[in-house]
Amino acid sequence: MSDLKPAAVWTTVAGSRTNVTNVQPSVSAADILISSVMKKILRPHRSLMIQICPKHRPFISLLEFLNMPKIAVIGGTGIYNPDSFETIKTVFPDTPYGKPSDEIMIGKISGVEVAFLFRHGRSHRYPPSSVPYKANMWALKELGCEYIISACAVGSLQIEYAPGDLVIPTQFIDFTKKRDYTFFDKKIVHISIPDPFCTYLNRIFDDTAEKMGIRHHLGGAYVCIEGPRFSTRAESKMFRQFGDIIGMTLVPECQLARELGMCYCSLATVTDYDMWHEEDVSIEMVVKTMNECLAKVLKLLELGLPKIGKSDCDCIEAAKECGAL
Ligand SMILES: [Zn+2]
Repeated sequence: MSDLKPAAVWTTVAGSRTNVTNVQPSVSAADILISSVMKKILRPHRSLMIQICPKHRPFISLLEFLNMPKIAVIGGTGIYNPDSFETIKTVFPDTPYGKPSDEIMIGKISGVEVAFLFRHGRSHRYPPSSVPYKANMWALKELGCEYIISACAVGSLQIEYAPGDLVIPTQFIDFTKKRDYTFFDKKIVHISIPDPFCTYLNRIFDDTAEKMGIRHHLGGAYVCIEGPRFSTRAESKMFRQFGDIIGMTLVPECQLARELGMCYCSLATVTDYDMWHEEDVSIEMVVKTMNECLAKVLKLLELGLPKIGKSDCDCIEAAKECGAL
C-alpha cells in the first residue's frame, strides 16, 4: 500500500483554494455499488473468516482493496488539515440528490478506515444554506458508513463554554429557515429524535477528551441558525435563553443521519462568544481560533476513532420504527 500513500496537503484557511495532491483517481459508481454489496455480505463475517477459513482470504483482500469505511468524518470550517489522514482513493458519486459537497476521500486515520468529506467543499464554495446535505448523507450511507463524526466551529452562548473548548452537544434547536430537511417529501414519515445525537459516539469522545485532559463539555444545546450572517446582538441575547452554543450547519445534517439510521456525533470547537459578549465576531476570529484548536481535534479523532466498535445505541431503531428504513 505504500505506493498509494498520499502526500495530501490541505490548506487550513476557509475561503482559500485547497490543494490535494497524489490522490488516486475517483472510482466509478459501479465500484461503490460492488463495495456496498460486498460490505453487507462479507463484513459481518470478516473476523470469523480470518480465524477459521483461510480459503476466504482472497475475499478479505478484496474487502481491504475496496476499503469500505464504516466511519465518516465531516470536516467543517478549519478542519482542513488532517496530516494523519492516509488517503487511499477518492470517490465522487452521484446520488438522487446530486453530487456531494466534494470528492469523498477514503483512507485511514490511526489505521481505521474512514471516509472524509469537506462539508463546504475544499474551496469552501458552499455556504451553510447551500451545502448539499442530502447528497452528502446519502453518499456516505451508500459507501457503507454507519457512524458520522461531524467536526464544526461554533460560537458560545454561555460564559462557561469558553473559546477553545470542545463541546459534544446532546440537543439542538432549529432556527434555520430554508433548508431541505428530509428524505421523505412524498411519504409520510415522522421520525422521533428526542435525543438526536448518538449516545455511544458521544461517550467515546467524551472519554477520549477526558483522558487527553482537554477542556470539554458533554452536553449542551446547539442552536442552529440560517446564516450566513452572524446574529444581531438582540438575537444572540435571545438565543442565550434557549441554548449553549450556536452554529449554522448541524441542521439538517444531524436529522438526515437519523433518517438513514446512522449514528451521528458532533465535535464542536468554540471559537468565540457570539454577539451577546463584548467582542464582536468575525470570520477571521473564527478561523484563527479553529486553527489553534485544529491539532487538538485531530488528536481526538486519532485516539477516539479506533475505539468505535459495535454500538449499544438505538439510533437505527428510530429509523426502523417510523418506517424510514
Ligand atoms: Zn448511535
